[in-house]
Amino acid sequence: MADRVTASEDETQAVGRELAVMLHAGDVLLLSGDLGAGKTTFVRGLAEGLGIDPGEVSSPTFTLVHEYRGNGLTLYHADLYRLERAATDDLGLEEIGFKDGVLAIEWPDRLSHALPGARWVRLEVVNEESRRITIGPPEDGPYDCV
Ligand code: ADP
Ligand code: MG
Repeated sequence: MADRVTASEDETQAVGRELAVMLHAGDVLLLSGDLGAGKTTFVRGLAEGLGIDPGEVSSPTFTLVHEYRGNGLTLYHADLYRLERAATDDLGLEEIGFKDGVLAIEWPDRLSHALPGARWVRLEVVNEESRRITIGPPEDGPYDCV
């Protein structure tokens, strides 16, 4: 699953769904990519894989962190797009990430410092209907290949 090219929104959602079943409490996913790359779509897949209605997942606008209760893990979805780098310190993301669930962060370049154990999910626009998705290993290892 290290490098995948999807041909539709549904396929991108499916990759998120596949990754979700391998996640554990405390996992953090850093979703990078331009506007429209498919980050929120990917999070809908994560939701589905965690037993959450993907239709509930929207782009957080004024709420910076959304919380969705799944069958087992809770999904926390943050979108830092509108934040200044310094402001992310006040969100308490570390505490969230290591509680009872999975934390997915859009625009992680806004973070002022690294989150231990975070794993990158990079989404790149190939063309209108196609995206390249690269999923990295957890930054602190272990390097279990997905
Ligand atoms: P982001 O959160 O990165 O800004 P969204 O997931 O909100 O992106 O939007 C992605 C947009 O790109 C949607 O309008 C979707 O229909 C479109 N799209 C087209 N092809 C794909 C694909 N292969 N994967 C994901 N989204 C796609
Ligand atoms: Mg988004």
